[in-house]
Amino acid sequence: MNPILETIRRLFRERGDEAYIGEKVSQTEHALQAAWAAEKSGATPELITAALLHDVGHILDLEYTAGYDPLVDLQHENAGARWLEERFVPAVYEPVHLHVAAKRYLCATDPTYHDLLSEASRASLRAQKGPFSPTEAQEFEAHPFYRSAVELRRWDDIAKIPGLATPSLEHFLPFVEKSLA
Ligand code: FE
Repeated sequence: MNPILETIRRLFRERGDEAYIGEKVSQTEHALQAAWAAEKSGATPELITAALLHDVGHILDLEYTAGYDPLVDLQHENAGARWLEERFVPAVYEPVHLHVAAKRYLCATDPTYHDLLSEASRASLRAQKGPFSPTEAQEFEAHPFYRSAVELRRWDDIAKIPGLATPSLEHFLPFVEKSLA
């Protein structure tokens, strides 16, 4: 077994039961629901891996231990993307890095999007500097991974359903293994 897969197992084992703050699911449930939504959409192994690990920044021990305030932007996407960058191909870490920007993008370009957000996600939007301006949205569209980031964002937003049945972490590890750098 690849040591990176072992580390991922350990992170979810040790910290996955923690609450996804502001939501009614755990970190593990949120990750599995996002990955499952990606797989059902026919996503690539890399994007399924990105969905599974998009919030790995929350369980890395770099933050969160002293309590998470959604009004303070802790930039978990940066911590997570940095960790992923050392281990995975760009098709994994780039969408993760952009998944908060994708929320700001969707708030600016999809009039129905803001209403779909959970209360916690709306609260954190303010700390994340709110919707993009038209110029910022255009710049975002120039990024080669922006579409992947938007797809990931939509799976992230629906992966908050208490009690939803999904495959286990083990089911997704073959996709993870295929996406290693
Ligand atoms: Fe998330």
